[in-house]
Amino acid sequence: MVVANWKMNGTLVEARALASAVREKLRRARGVEVVLCPPFTALAAVAEVLAGSSIGLGAQNCHWEASGAYTGEVSPAMLAELGCRLVILGHSERRQHLGEGDALINRKLHAAVAHGLTPLLCVGETAEERRQGLTFHVVEGQLRGGLAGASRDGIVRCMLAYEPVWAIGTGVNATPAQGAEVHGSLRGILSELASKEVAQAVRILYGGSVKPENVAPLLEEPEIDGALVGGASLQADTFIEIVRKSAPRAGSAAKE
Ligand code: PEP
Repeated sequence: MVVANWKMNGTLVEARALASAVREKLRRARGVEVVLCPPFTALAAVAEVLAGSSIGLGAQNCHWEASGAYTGEVSPAMLAELGCRLVILGHSERRQHLGEGDALINRKLHAAVAHGLTPLLCVGETAEERRQGLTFHVVEGQLRGGLAGASRDGIVRCMLAYEPVWAIGTGVNATPAQGAEVHGSLRGILSELASKEVAQAVRILYGGSVKPENVAPLLEEPEIDGALVGGASLQADTFIEIVRKSAPRAGSAAKE
């Protein structure tokens, strides 16, 4: 699976053009599920462009209530109505710049599940935390906090993204071994919280400076089920190349 996080980028015209280019070039894609997450303002336009294709639509955030006096917010019900199937939650940029903590993210996760959206819960350590040997401790706390109170049925409807903060937008990606090690530990915690079957069923994506040159070795790791792609998803050709290289038995997915 490859999920594009466009972040706060794109006018309506640009968003339509990018989504159209991705749709056109992925026409014959096989074996890779693709989801585009544009900014809120472009969701409806991108939904129109993607209608009738196998490319999914996702959002980058949501509120925890279905409606109400929450100026400036967007509810999971609104996203579901637009055709979103997934919502990114707990992205490190929201944790860092908007002060989101695990308790808040947990409320959003429950709301997303209740409205039929798949939460893509992001976890990841900073460079300093890794240097101090705290990586596993940090991601475990974020995972347990984000999933608190979720039943086995709720957990199986979630996806995770391991996104080391030091790798996001820096051009420095985690090595496949570093990724696999953290993904394995997350799966172990899922096993404990739900069951071994649920842990195997929940997809865990890697995110952080994914590019056409590094995606295949990362996804060769059995623990890594896909990629969450930020910067490199803003150029259609680069993104398509990432999707193509993510295909099982590299090279068999997108044929232009
Ligand atoms: C992200 O923000 O989710 C991300 C992975 O960004 P980038 O690919 O630009 O590192």
